Amino acid sequence: MGSNITFEQLSAIFYEQAQGLVEGGADVLLVETSQDILEVKAAVDGITRYFKDSGNRVALQAQITLDVSGRMLLGTDIAGALATLESLPIDIIGLNCSTGPEHMREPIRYLTEHSTKPISVLPNAGLPINVDGEAVYPMEPDPFAKMLSEFAEWGVSVVGGCCGTTPAHLAKVVEYVGQDRPQKQRDPET
Ligand SMILES: [Zn+2]
Repeated sequence: MGSNITFEQLSAIFYEQAQGLVEGGADVLLVETSQDILEVKAAVDGITRYFKDSGNRVALQAQITLDVSGRMLLGTDIAGALATLESLPIDIIGLNCSTGPEHMREPIRYLTEHSTKPISVLPNAGLPINVDGEAVYPMEPDPFAKMLSEFAEWGVSVVGGCCGTTPAHLAKVVEYVGQDRPQKQRDPET
């Protein structure tokens, strides 16, 4: 969260967004590419205040973004991020963007072992390479989808793609993962 905006201001912005999206017919609200755990808290605060005020509640999915070292922009690691996310009224917890799936293995392993909520993973099509000032995403649909199907076997319930993924990537994901059913959700008491 930049120093120019307060928690309350940010929460109010997300309240308004939630209202527009839910009144417009959205079934799921996705807070994604979050690089600051405080920003997620503000988003969830605004969204859940809207849910409460309106009596309309839809599924809420929140995804953070980790760099290749497994940390958020301000240094939060997956254990710290999960502790915060678990304390919030979120339905699905996950990761998206920044890197390809190959760099998400360890944090996903951590989530599958520790999260009491369903897990989502929407990676980029590989770690971007800078070609003449433009980001190029090098991972082909087949290896991308294979890795996501491995994550599904570990217990990830929601998979998809972020930057650089194409309809061909997602078609492969459906081909590899489409037959699998989500894993049974872990009992929060255990
Ligand atoms: Zn992305």
